[in-house]
Amino acid sequence: MAEVTKAKWALITGGSRGIGRAIALELARKHGLNIVLNYASNKEAAETTAAELKTIGVDVFLAPFDVKDPEAVKAGIEAWRSAHPEARLEVLVNNAGITRDNLLVFMEPADWHEVINTHLNGFFNVTTSVLQGLVRQRYGRIINVVSLSGTKGVPGQTNYSAAKAGIIGATRSLAQEVAKRNITVNAVAPGFITSDMTKDLDEAQLKQLVPMARFGTPEEVAGIVGFLASAEAAYITGEVIHVNGGMHS
Ligand code: NAP
Repeated sequence: MAEVTKAKWALITGGSRGIGRAIALELARKHGLNIVLNYASNKEAAETTAAELKTIGVDVFLAPFDVKDPEAVKAGIEAWRSAHPEARLEVLVNNAGITRDNLLVFMEPADWHEVINTHLNGFFNVTTSVLQGLVRQRYGRIINVVSLSGTKGVPGQTNYSAAKAGIIGATRSLAQEVAKRNITVNAVAPGFITSDMTKDLDEAQLKQLVPMARFGTPEEVAGIVGFLASAEAAYITGEVIHVNGGMHS
């Protein structure tokens, strides 16, 4: 493991479970980063992940807030800053997410708005809450977890595809806005990954669509996030990296 650097932190939204949990563990192990672990409501999962992180030797700040709510986001980040005035946030991973799948013809407005608000407005709320600090310190890594759905499109997911495609556009624009400040902005686009989000899918049937004939693991997504967060990835920005077992179309 890398040496734990007392002042350096990463904020991971949706870090309690699944892909976010794996990313938190990867950043702690590989980069020795202390972790601001955001989640929505699953305190038990967040505390379990926090305990795992602490065994690695990093500090953890549990930050329950709804990424859809700009005031809650500001308050959550402020609470962490007050508790750790010396902290320097170096990495932001926008990972929190939900699905509310339905064919558009049957989709309720609430399901459209909930998904757009969580992903796209969540990206805006969290990123703008930390961006000035990254610009001032002239260093940062922003990594957005998007989806194959946002590039290929998936029937039954117009809300989710639109939200993820929106974040991909924002990734490319923001990358150009902050490049001179040594801040990289990239996206990672998983295909089918085993997590609570996909637990009700028919894996036996769907894996036949994947050239590698299996779902991926959260750790396989976390690995590339860990690389994008590293010093070695300094010249990669505005990129979308697919982690999908070859299922590009
Ligand atoms: P997951 O296991 O369902 O975990 C979702 C995480 O997001 C949880 O930590 C949850 O917190 C948090 N969350 C949900 N809504 C939130 C909100 N409004 N505010 C703050 N946190 C919120 O999902 P996952 O599979 O790990 O997915 C993680 C990311 O990967 C998502 O952006 C998803 O769209 C993307 N992705 C997943 C797959 C896949 O196949 N699994 C594929 C492509 C992309 P609580 O624990 O408190 O509920």
